[in-house]
Parts: sequence; C-alpha cells; structure tokens
Amino acid sequence: QGKEVILQLDNLSVSYGNIAAVQNLSMTVYAGEIVTLIGSNGAGKSTTLRTISGLLRPKSGDVVYEGKKINGIPGHDVVKLGISQSPEGRKIFQRMTVSENLDLGAFTRKDTAKIAEDRENVLELFPRLRERISQKAGTMSGGEQQMLAVARALLGDPRLLLLDEPSMGLAPVLVDVIFETIEKIRSQGVTVLLVEQNALAALEIADYAYVLESGRLNTEGEASMLLDDPSVTAAYLGGH
Ligand code: ATP
Repeated sequence: QGKEVILQLDNLSVSYGNIAAVQNLSMTVYAGEIVTLIGSNGAGKSTTLRTISGLLRPKSGDVVYEGKKINGIPGHDVVKLGISQSPEGRKIFQRMTVSENLDLGAFTRKDTAKIAEDRENVLELFPRLRERISQKAGTMSGGEQQMLAVARALLGDPRLLLLDEPSMGLAPVLVDVIFETIEKIRSQGVTVLLVEQNALAALEIADYAYVLESGRLNTEGEASMLLDDPSVTAAYLGGH
C-alpha cells in the first residue's frame, strides 16, 4: 500500500579480518516503522548497525538509504544524511555534562532554532535528563546514561534512528520507560531500527523483526507473528 522503503541491506557481508561477522544479510526497513534485529550474543547485530552508520565497511553487498548506496561513506557524513546511532552501553562523554553531551549530538547541524526546539523535545521525552542537565554524565546511573545516549542521537535530527541495546543493564521499570519512549519517538515520524537482547520487549513494540543467528538471517516476519512462533519463543524468549 505504497509503503516507502527508507533502508535496504542487499546481501551484506561484514568481516573482522578473516572472521565473518555478518553473511549475506538482506533486510528492508519501511519509513515510519519500528524494525527490530534480535539474536543471541555474537549474532552480528551490532556489526550490522555499525555498518549502516558508516563505522565499518561491508566486505560485499550494499547499504541503500533513501535510494542511495551509502556504504563507504564515513560516519560523520552518514549522520548528515539523517541516520543517527545511539551506541551500546555507556559510550557517552563521561566528563562532560548532560547539556554538553546533548550539544554534541547536534554538532553537524546549523539550524539553531530547530536545534533548540529538538533539545526541548528530548527533555520532554526524558524528564530525568532535564533534572540532571548540569551533572557530569559519568556520574549518572547506567539507566540515565542510556537515556542520554538515545537523547543525544535524537539531537542529530535523524529520519532513521539506530538503537543498540537501549535496555541493556536497566531495571525493569526503566526498560518500560525506554520502550515507551521509543514508541513516542516513532510517533514523531522517526523510523527506528532496534537491536535488542530483550527480544520479548522488542517484539512487543516492533512492526517487523529479523532474527540473526551466527551472522546469518534465520527468520524474519511481522513481530506479532514471531511472538506466536514456538521456534522463536523457545530460542529467544525462554519458551514464554
Ligand atoms: P551481542 O548481543 O553479544 O552484543 P552482537 O549480535 O551484537 O552480539 P557483534 O558484536 O556484531 O554481535 O559480533 C559479531 C561477531 O563478530 C562476534 O563473533 C564477535 O566476536 C565478532 N567481532 C565483533 N567485533 C569484533 C572486532 N572488533 N574484531 C574481531 N571480531 C569482532
């Protein structure tokens, strides 16, 4: 029904030296959707995200964004095209304040008025960050740092937001907050590609899901279908 493709991976293979991390992966992400990439440890999820965001180059295959091949384009130029990645774990600037971290999220932009508006929007999404605006990021809790990582990525004004395990290490109540916030982000028109170990929570908010196994695509489908698939629930959801 005229859905617009925002991102396409065509037969993507990525290696570290002679270690094949991702092999022949093809994926399609439609604009406005939440798509999740799940799979066990070492399946190649982070590698896939890092390749999309220009931190790694594919060995073969293509990353096609808004109809253009972007593999080989360096990370800072990929951000300018409208793709931001929120990194896994605590990879924010620990010695800088929350406010300074947010400023850095907008470093490729010049539209001052819109930046101020977007900054206000992320502080609405994450009220905790507003309370901590002058605090050094490294002294915040793991969950707060995770929120800052997502907020900083949003200040790049992405059309496609790449999230690498946003729920990692979070208390259950904060996991709920993060997933609700991801849904709000999507409702503001941002397409989300979500990498998660927490497959259940990811499938509950996603439209579509890809399951990676040892670097290869194992299954794909509507998230609601995968939630009902016994082989998926047994392998990734503890047989729930
Ligand atoms: P996790 O859920 O545990 O973070 P993942 O699905 O994100 O796993 P990747 O981090 O993409 O998996 O790793 C895929 C494979 O590539 C793993 O076997 C990993 O050991 C390997 N790998 C990742 N980074 C490097 C690197 N810098 N050098 C060599 N091998 C790497």
